[in-house]
Amino acid sequence: MDFTLKPRPRVPGLSIIIPCYNEADNLNRLLPRLQDMLQGLVSDWEVILVDDGSRDNTAEVFAFWSAQPGFQAIQLSRNFGKEAALTAGLEAARCETCLMMDADLQHSPDLIPAMLAQWQQGYDVVYAVREHRRDERLLKRLGAGWFYRLVNAGARFRVPADAGDFRLMDRAVVDALLDLPERNRFMKGLYAWVGFKSVEIAYVPEARAAGRTTFNPLRLLRLSLDGLTAFTTWPLHIASLMGFVLALLAFSYGGYLTLDYLLHGHKVPGWTTIVVGLMFFSAIQLIGLGVLGEYVSRIFEEVKGRPLYVVRHRAGRALRDSQS
Ligand code: UDP
Ligand code: MG
Repeated sequence: MDFTLKPRPRVPGLSIIIPCYNEADNLNRLLPRLQDMLQGLVSDWEVILVDDGSRDNTAEVFAFWSAQPGFQAIQLSRNFGKEAALTAGLEAARCETCLMMDADLQHSPDLIPAMLAQWQQGYDVVYAVREHRRDERLLKRLGAGWFYRLVNAGARFRVPADAGDFRLMDRAVVDALLDLPERNRFMKGLYAWVGFKSVEIAYVPEARAAGRTTFNPLRLLRLSLDGLTAFTTWPLHIASLMGFVLALLAFSYGGYLTLDYLLHGHKVPGWTTIVVGLMFFSAIQLIGLGVLGEYVSRIFEEVKGRPLYVVRHRAGRALRDSQS
């Protein structure tokens, strides 16, 4: 049993999972490059393409590539989101190691040999970390900084900043991820939650080859809320703490008013205090309710227990099937 880091001398089988949403142009550039690289690198590989309800001609590109040995295509019945598409791919993957990468060439295939080398050193997870975010707008960079600070506040495990879905994972890690039953699949948090021996590799993301990102500020905000509610409970504690402190203040103020009345007799009280107090306390209550609502809506999503995705069509076979 290896409880420490033990080098793995063999070359593993490799499953590559690529979620695709309107990526026809990019796939035609990425896949030939990937195919060349894989043929020289590992003997046993499969590329799993997941079409997340694309509206361009990704389906035609899939039809072509799923006829090539080693390529599999999964078409979801509509757009379920990147996290669901990744899960669909991971569930289909059969190899000893799994690698996930974007279709838009921002994740360079040239990094794959270095990632495999780290796996052979004995690491279970090799994740690529952006060297910098200079390519992004200031607002997104600030938002990302705050998000990681908030999601890691008081947590037992750290979600590493700037590490995305570009990562190589051992079979044991993939199985652990797939064992997690939740619907809200905030992957960055789930990776951190399962743990394992991990190492990072720095990379500079290239510019998106074609098309536009679908992660606009609003969608990123929703994703962050998903992450925060799935991996923290401190907003709830803060809501109750605030209630407690305010109740204490209100009691003291009430005591003071009563004393004042007893000592100095009847006075016409200022309505400013009342109005300001009313507004203040209603605002606090609404915030508390909002925080509660965020968590309740996630609970609602979980109890419905719907499947994460629906497959419309599958095609293609793994390389090892075609050889045997
Ligand atoms: N993607 C997906 N479903 C979606 C949105 C995106 O499968 O609903 C895929 C997309 O095709 C790409 C990857 O997720 O391969 C990353 O998307 P994108 O480049 O838009 O995100 P960014 O690079 O801005 O994080
Ligand atoms: Mg991208």
